[in-house]
Amino acid sequence: MGKTLKTTCKMCRREGVTLCGKEKCALKRRSAPPGVHGPAQALRRPRLSSYGVQLREKQKAKRLYNVMERQFRRYFEAASLKKGNTADFLVQTLERRLDNVVFRLGFAKTRRQARQMVNHGFITVNGVDVNIPSFTVRVDEVIGFKESKKTKGLLNGLQERLQKTEAPRWLSLDAAMFTGKVTSLPEGEDLKSVFDPTLIVEFYSR
Ligand code: ZN
Repeated sequence: MGKTLKTTCKMCRREGVTLCGKEKCALKRRSAPPGVHGPAQALRRPRLSSYGVQLREKQKAKRLYNVMERQFRRYFEAASLKKGNTADFLVQTLERRLDNVVFRLGFAKTRRQARQMVNHGFITVNGVDVNIPSFTVRVDEVIGFKESKKTKGLLNGLQERLQKTEAPRWLSLDAAMFTGKVTSLPEGEDLKSVFDPTLIVEFYSR
């Protein structure tokens, strides 16, 4: 993951959507694809084959959630074994990652920052330390901060941000307690994203 840290907005510009989650995403200033030929490419965006379109959607989703190919494929395979809509299950699985939930609750400004918080032992689930970003949250679980990490510096900035955060419908945020609860699994509207998961299912089903 490390090598892509500084090039996040290159990815945003490549995919033409904000993937970094930053308010000041470079895409808002420079919408052309990255590189010296970027501006020229913007004028004649290449027409993609259906394979190309499917591949781009998969890359977009992987980059949005910062998931490597092997793990992403495992998510797809698990989703395809379930009865029901594979595309929905895939997005649901991605959304239920602990690092994503930490981001959705506003505990971190970006998914990358959220992953670091989890890695560095800031986060608890039902009061137990969990330092695995890919941990899958379940209904009724409560996500919070480890007591020893609740420094004044952390909480000051956080309070302000949490008051402005509108958590998705399937999560409930308690800004005063610095906790969030999984009230249901994400479904329907909750699964709307910048990528089209049905194209990803098509990609892996080829
Ligand atoms: Zn960006």
